[in-house]
Amino acid sequence: MNIQHDPSLALIDQVVAKAVAAADFWAESPAAVRAALLNGLATALEDRQAELVAIADRESGLGEGRLKGEVARTAFQLRGFASEVEAGVPYRQVVSDAVAGAPPAGRPALVRVQRALGPVAMFSASNFPFAFSVLGGDTSSALAAGCPVVVKAHSGHPELSRAVYELAAGVVRQQGLPEGLLTLVEATSRAGGTYLVQHPGIAAVAFTGSYQGGKALWQAANERPRPVPFFGELGSINPLVALPAALEKDSEGLAKTLAASITLGCGQFCTSPGLIVLLDSPHSERFVAQLAEAIAPIATHRMLTAGMRQGFDAAAATVAANADAVFTPAADGAGPAPRLFSTDAAAFIANAHLREEMFGPAALLVRAASVAEVVAVLEAVGGSLTTTLWGAEQASDDNRQLVRAAERISGRVLFGGVPTGVAVCHAQQHGGPWPSSTTPQTTSVGYAALERFLRPVALQDAPAWTLG
Ligand code: NAP
Repeated sequence: MNIQHDPSLALIDQVVAKAVAAADFWAESPAAVRAALLNGLATALEDRQAELVAIADRESGLGEGRLKGEVARTAFQLRGFASEVEAGVPYRQVVSDAVAGAPPAGRPALVRVQRALGPVAMFSASNFPFAFSVLGGDTSSALAAGCPVVVKAHSGHPELSRAVYELAAGVVRQQGLPEGLLTLVEATSRAGGTYLVQHPGIAAVAFTGSYQGGKALWQAANERPRPVPFFGELGSINPLVALPAALEKDSEGLAKTLAASITLGCGQFCTSPGLIVLLDSPHSERFVAQLAEAIAPIATHRMLTAGMRQGFDAAAATVAANADAVFTPAADGAGPAPRLFSTDAAAFIANAHLREEMFGPAALLVRAASVAEVVAVLEAVGGSLTTTLWGAEQASDDNRQLVRAAERISGRVLFGGVPTGVAVCHAQQHGGPWPSSTTPQTTSVGYAALERFLRPVALQDAPAWTLG
């Protein structure tokens, strides 16, 4: 295809030009104006919840309860970023006064300020039609930082993307703000997404989706004559280590909790626990039987898109060909029947197929003979959003090794509960080493997410008017 003739590219030029035109105004906007927009968007979203949830349910099949919860989370997040702006977070300055005398002790006056990066291209995620889409975490954190946002709508929920965008554009208009603060493109081709990432008017990219798509767009961002930051979340298998110390207490309860987490939302969560690591022990054997019993009868809802279903079937078939089935899955219903596979540590470490994400209601159990083998399994995972350690409460050399390994490979380490469910707060970290994130020193959930879209500038001997 000759991309010069793709009509959507001219549209991308138009919306990026609008974002560029709004960039200085928004970067210099006072806290009250920015916070008013974020709060106004939250209220507008809540006011239209019923209608929007109906569209989202039709397109995603995620169910009314889950989607209402997502609207509440999205509004909470928008208001939370408004509070951050009101507290002055994006306007923070670090001051080093002048010191008389020769360097290194002597110095000029320096003020380190933060400046908005500029227009952000934001690729909506398929699996969170509200919370990681048009008005989701990436958009709200970029707007809070002072950056206009060009949303690339996800093809899995086009009608919802348009409806939320129109609602947001109405709020922008009502508040007398420039249209270019928030724009929407529906690229008709993959070339359109690449074109957006490489557009000279785009200053940064935020992405949540597949490893393949994310890597292609990350490469495109880096192949630009002037590469730009690419904040990508590309996939995660979220190991959960269940030590005998935890399983000897309430293994049946833990099995039920884990079965619910693996199948939640038909397994379509970036934090879905896809790898369960067990130390050889009778407690572990009992736990495997209890987990199989808990998960086998769970009926899932349909997957988000036909492509996602095909992807899950293919990934599960690959694991099935390289590992043992723990039980024979029931016939599929509206969604795929849950699946559990099992292998040993040596096979997991040797075989890269076993480390691929099965995005859906499935998990792989890995049996390890020692703590050293558990650590080796975690090292083989490489990068994950989360690692969960059940039974590491006591300070011991073994547990220290496990915690060190978990921290090395993941952005969030849990000592209880399950990784699905990511709280929006100041201490949150959602992003670990590649491939779970292209920028593991940043987070895409929680209030620190806005730091991604700010760039420090040191002003030296600056006149007072530049620091207002
Ligand atoms: P995706 O295929 O990576 O798509 C995400 C976005 O990137 C969409 O806007 C898509 O455009 C665009 N895109 C994808 N590949 C591209 C390319 N080569 N060039 C330009 N643009 C590209 O992700 P998805 O649709 O959400 O899900 C597909 C698979 O990703 C799932 O089956 C699952 O395996 C995985 N996934 C993982 C996570 C996670 O958090 N771990 C989350 C969601 C999905 P279109 O809208 O036109 O397709």
